[in-house]
Amino acid sequence: MTHNFQAVLIEDERQVRRYIAMALTSSGFQVWEAETAKQGLTEISTRKPDLVVLDLGLPDQDGIEVVRHVRTWSNMAILILSARTDETQKVEALDAGADDYLTKPFGVPELEARIRAILRRSQRQNGHTDDDPYFEFGAIQVDLTRRRVTRLGEEIHLTLTEYRILTLLITNKDRVLTHRQILKEVWGPNHVDRSHYLRVFMAGLRRKIEETPASPKHILTETGIGYRFV
Ligand code: CA
Repeated sequence: MTHNFQAVLIEDERQVRRYIAMALTSSGFQVWEAETAKQGLTEISTRKPDLVVLDLGLPDQDGIEVVRHVRTWSNMAILILSARTDETQKVEALDAGADDYLTKPFGVPELEARIRAILRRSQRQNGHTDDDPYFEFGAIQVDLTRRRVTRLGEEIHLTLTEYRILTLLITNKDRVLTHRQILKEVWGPNHVDRSHYLRVFMAGLRRKIEETPASPKHILTETGIGYRFV
């Protein structure tokens, strides 16, 4: 069997590791497994995989340390796995540069969907573009070259900030963005703690682009973490 992609899987619970390894293998990955952060880092530096699947709770070190370490030298895709109780750590790991997360327990379809979204994004970054300046969702069209947002051809007026939030979200489609990441990108590094800005602008943006702003279909809230555009 030929493999398109390589993955390093770092997870100390044997059963969970088997389960994920099987799912990755059937998605076409060649998988290298590790039980500790230390082993994992060794595998990562020797294999230079396309994807790292990383449990946050490891016996020797926090998974976050692995994320920080990898991000000093590589942009490779990182998907973190966390228990429900790790909420703060999860946000920290995403802010440190992890691409997305899954909360245990999760199903194989969820895992596969996350991986597809992450790989799409990392291929885009590596220049294998499916970059299209036009983007469509529901009745909304976004023309990135002309900075124009329309609903069935009618122009929707967005403020510059709303437009920047929207384009950040759509260029990271299917991926979670933390409050901090959005604030940093749109307002700058000195504003990363001002989540209240974001809530206000997000509400405004939803009113303009969501059919039912109170139950949004495109800009989803990830409680305590951030937003995900789908
Ligand atoms: Ca664990």
